[in-house]
Amino acid sequence: MQESDPHFDSTLAIRPVVVPRPEHNISRANISENALKVLYRLRQENFQAHLVGGGVRDLLLGHEPKDFDVATDATPEQVRQVFRNCRLIGRRFRLAHVHFGRDIIEVATFRGSGVDDDTTTDRQVENGMIVRDNSYGTIAEDALRRDFTINALYYDIADFSLVDYAGGLTDLRLGQMRLIGEPEQRYREDPVRMLRAVRFACKLGFTIEPATERPLFDLGHLLGDIPAARLFDELIKLFHSGYGLGVFEKLRHYGLFGHLFPATEDALAREDHDFPITFVSRGLSNTDKRLLEDKPVTPAFLFGVLLWEPVRLRFEALVAEGMGANEAILLASSEVCSRQQPLVAIPKRFSLPMREIWALQPRLEQRDGKRPYRLITHPRFRAAYDFLLLRAESGESDPELAAWWTRFQDASSQERASMTDAARGRRRPRRRRKPSGSANEVVG
Ligand code: ATP
Ligand code: MG
Repeated sequence: MQESDPHFDSTLAIRPVVVPRPEHNISRANISENALKVLYRLRQENFQAHLVGGGVRDLLLGHEPKDFDVATDATPEQVRQVFRNCRLIGRRFRLAHVHFGRDIIEVATFRGSGVDDDTTTDRQVENGMIVRDNSYGTIAEDALRRDFTINALYYDIADFSLVDYAGGLTDLRLGQMRLIGEPEQRYREDPVRMLRAVRFACKLGFTIEPATERPLFDLGHLLGDIPAARLFDELIKLFHSGYGLGVFEKLRHYGLFGHLFPATEDALAREDHDFPITFVSRGLSNTDKRLLEDKPVTPAFLFGVLLWEPVRLRFEALVAEGMGANEAILLASSEVCSRQQPLVAIPKRFSLPMREIWALQPRLEQRDGKRPYRLITHPRFRAAYDFLLLRAESGESDPELAAWWTRFQDASSQERASMTDAARGRRRPRRRRKPSGSANEVVG
């Protein structure tokens, strides 16, 4: 700790822990060239310039940071005057984006905590977060309005020291997530912090400190106030970062999953076989494995997996009522999607292929005549086949069917002909429709 340090905030009477360069392991060699350029340039203009957030946290843990964020006392307008390649974004909170080709360094002005914390009149809700005011502040104020202590560490380009206002270095050492301030209040301000707690705990392998963890069990309903588009983005970060299986288990453990996917949670909770859980778990760990191998993944498949169980149950019910399989899968899909969409807005470019993957499931059972030849040319065949494999592996669908399609894809035309002939006799007898008058009856 240094005495008379320039980071001391006399208004808040907060003296941070300052770790000088020789005593920490952040080396400029591990910071991106563009981030360094921004930091040095701001410094040259006599502004404060710090690296902050996930970048500092990950460097301290010896991980490769995803991106580098910069915090400064320069206003966004001042940042724009310093950098030609700069755009200001955001309406209420203006942020500066400094562009280097495709690389963007985000520069945020220190945010104040707001003077009228106790009045609600100046509170506004933006994107599901309670926003007190948008005034700029000191670095100490900026630190205290961040979420977790380990996300509130600053690397000061002036002397390469580490600055810690919230006890993040200790928590980093202990391997734990701790919210800054009163946990319940911080979750109420922005319920997405609950999802962030789960995400970082899984990503870093950290525990969640008890006071930070406790409210997670009770506050899941607050997720209902978050705009559906923001939840979609957050779910992609949760499930497409390589540790989706752990995330799923933790979200269910805290009772958060049911507030994101109520129909799926209902189906899983009343399962009388293991396969629905096995199916989701396998689907997620497949995705984790693909990410590890740098293979592409798509939200269409991810949400297809997460929502399949309610779709399947509804589909089976409709078929039992006498509806044809192709029709029943479409109806079940739209019912489940229209209940899910207000909670988590899946963009059309993902929900359409997701529904195609589902729609192809019953069609994969129809293996006679020319149908299989048409099906393998369908643009969504490969994804639908992968989906079928997953269903077979988890014991939900007949493994013989999946094996048939595996063989069919590589078979010669002669083999294919005998395969479709053999399948003719095996076709599942079409159930008879209920007599007319049934609500789902479609005259065909
Ligand atoms: P990642 O590795 O996922 O990028 P990150 O910690 O950098 O992790 P970001 O979402 O990029 O996460 O946010 C950058 C920083 O902004 C965080 O480290 C944190 O200090 C602050 N922050 C982000 N979201 C919130 C929030 N909802 N509430 C308070 N502070 C937040
Ligand atoms: Mg980040």
